[in-house]
Amino acid sequence: MSFEAVIGLEIHAQLLTESKIFCGCSTKFGAPPNTNVCPVCLGLPGALPVLNRRAVDFAIGAALALDCTIHGISIFARKNYFYPDLPKGYQISQYDQPLATDGRVAYDIDGRTREVGIIRVHLEEDAGKSLHEGFPDSDRATYIDYNRSGVPLLEIVTRPDLHSAADAADFFGRLRAVLVAIGVNDGNMEEGSLRCDANVSVRPVGSQALGTKTEVKNLNSFRFLQKALEYEISRQTQIIESGGAVLQETRLWDPAAGRTETLRTKEEAHDYRYFPEPDLPPVQVDQARIALIRERLPELPETRKRRLVAQYGLPAYDAGVLTQTAALANYFEAAAASSGNPKAASNWVMGEILRKLRESDTTIERVPIAPASLARLIRLIDAGTLSVSAAKEVFDKMYSSGREAEDIVAAENLGQISDAAALRDLVRGVIEQNPGPVSQIRAGKAGPLGFLVGQVMKATGGKANPRVVNELIREALDRAH
Ligand code: ADP
Ligand code: ZN
Ligand code: MG
Repeated sequence: MSFEAVIGLEIHAQLLTESKIFCGCSTKFGAPPNTNVCPVCLGLPGALPVLNRRAVDFAIGAALALDCTIHGISIFARKNYFYPDLPKGYQISQYDQPLATDGRVAYDIDGRTREVGIIRVHLEEDAGKSLHEGFPDSDRATYIDYNRSGVPLLEIVTRPDLHSAADAADFFGRLRAVLVAIGVNDGNMEEGSLRCDANVSVRPVGSQALGTKTEVKNLNSFRFLQKALEYEISRQTQIIESGGAVLQETRLWDPAAGRTETLRTKEEAHDYRYFPEPDLPPVQVDQARIALIRERLPELPETRKRRLVAQYGLPAYDAGVLTQTAALANYFEAAAASSGNPKAASNWVMGEILRKLRESDTTIERVPIAPASLARLIRLIDAGTLSVSAAKEVFDKMYSSGREAEDIVAAENLGQISDAAALRDLVRGVIEQNPGPVSQIRAGKAGPLGFLVGQVMKATGGKANPRVVNELIREALDRAH
């Protein structure tokens, strides 16, 4: 019997507000511990929360990008549990009336359209951070940093529509690109501003019923998400194949050991004693506000990818690479427009530009070659002034010096000789000096033509445009006939 994995993701994305969700404290990452705190986010008695309007706007934008239904009224609830990093003893979250439900992310993969359903999108506050290591008494004590307490989070829950570890990681990358593109999240998994838990079960292929799932936590990179799911899928498959039953539980990915381990058997919702938050009124969102946010939403990566294919005639592969980030796509579109040669612009961006970015570990925003300057380089090639290999040399010099292509070509005499008038005498000379090859060509052999072109190239120090030389030789032999 063969088995199929069933995976649903729960994503927590920190919203890019300046201040926290229920107080005015800064959300800035990396501040000294417990400096961005106040009575509200420390949960001191009597302190009252006030909802950050900006956080709601960001959440609405994300819900729209995920094609959700946004509800006119949503309710904050208290999710009660005891943990030292949760100062109030409860987390303010949304429960049975979330901000938005029933969305989807649709994308093309291997020539097919796939859709991953979104069950819900809701707002909640983050907890503080427990620090178990790095202090002289860390063997006995845990320290807590409440700077993160009250930072606004968007929780996104997908339907169990993913069926392999690789698909889950790929989808998560696409979701991340959407959130980053609309400016609600910075996509930074290392700093924890984007986190993902994975729910996974396995079932016999062909079965519609869902198997018992486990929830895997501590997946703070794409690689860990994929590795943990691969591990968990094979662990569950082995249990079922040997006649056992998967236990419903929360498991922790241990990156050092390369396996998941039991954290706790899964709590039920009623363990949290959810009830409506009495200190916050229902969140009201009217149609006008939704319409305004929808209007301001930028083009989404998948939409842009399709447009690049249609508008510039690019292969889907190119369009996928170029729309990895909005900034990269902007760069490409600017270079395509000002060079008038989209395919060449795409080749240069995907090839040389991305290579430089990788080598110098930087981003497109910091590239020292403006799109218009790359376009000028492309025009020099298209005009026959530069060979492609000479252009790569020029490109490297542009990158390190910030100079324009024309200046480098002129200063270093890198230009290609494409002017027929300048080459004609040389061609005539080479023909006169090589009667043997010439008569072979006339007898119908193609090979010696390359030899003659080579002679002209040699005489110009490699600078003649071989295409023009080729034409001139043919022309001269035809005329002499
Ligand atoms: P819970 O009540 O345990 O939180 P939910 O129904 O709210 O479960 O779903 C939480 C997440 O788990 C969602 O992403 C959902 O797609 C996923 N999920 C639910 N059931 C399964 C299953 N049997 N196998 C894999 N994923 C599942
Ligand atoms: Zn505060
Ligand atoms: Mg749930």
